[in-house]
Amino acid sequence: MIKILISSCVMGNKVRWNNSTRHYPELHQWAQDKGIELVPVCPENELFGTPRQNIRLVQVGDSVEGRMGKEEVYKQMIKKSRELFSRHPDARGFIGLANSPSCGISVGVKNRGSVMKGTMHLTSPVPSCEANQLRTEEGRQKFLNRVLKHHASVAQLDRASAF
Ligand code: SF4
Repeated sequence: MIKILISSCVMGNKVRWNNSTRHYPELHQWAQDKGIELVPVCPENELFGTPRQNIRLVQVGDSVEGRMGKEEVYKQMIKKSRELFSRHPDARGFIGLANSPSCGISVGVKNRGSVMKGTMHLTSPVPSCEANQLRTEEGRQKFLNRVLKHHASVAQLDRASAF
């Protein structure tokens, strides 16, 4: 069985800042059909609990800050994202949520003039996508191909290091 991490709110858990979910129920059946284990993770819930204040990314000089009210939390977000991946070294992919500063791919950053990856995608050692890219069969197959390719290369490295 292939293990893929997924944003917990996409799995239907009420862990968004305002206690809501962004459930994609069709992904449960897809995972079951393809022999995939979906493992929910939520960096922000682990760091700050739910409900919590909304986090916004802001460009300040050469740095990006994560503003949660008056608190600067970007370094904590990066550290937690890394920790989640190291907690699951057997994961072969990550499915996130659009627009989240942690789990989105093209996240708005105030005063930057361009978008950037959320912390989970920035720190991901595995292929990653957003749930909305998996709405079609073609999108799901495309992501699965990336995951399987990565899985095969890890297995090859494991065999090589066993000699
Ligand atoms: S941090 Fe990620 S998993 Fe948690 S609520 Fe936000 S988008 Fe969902």
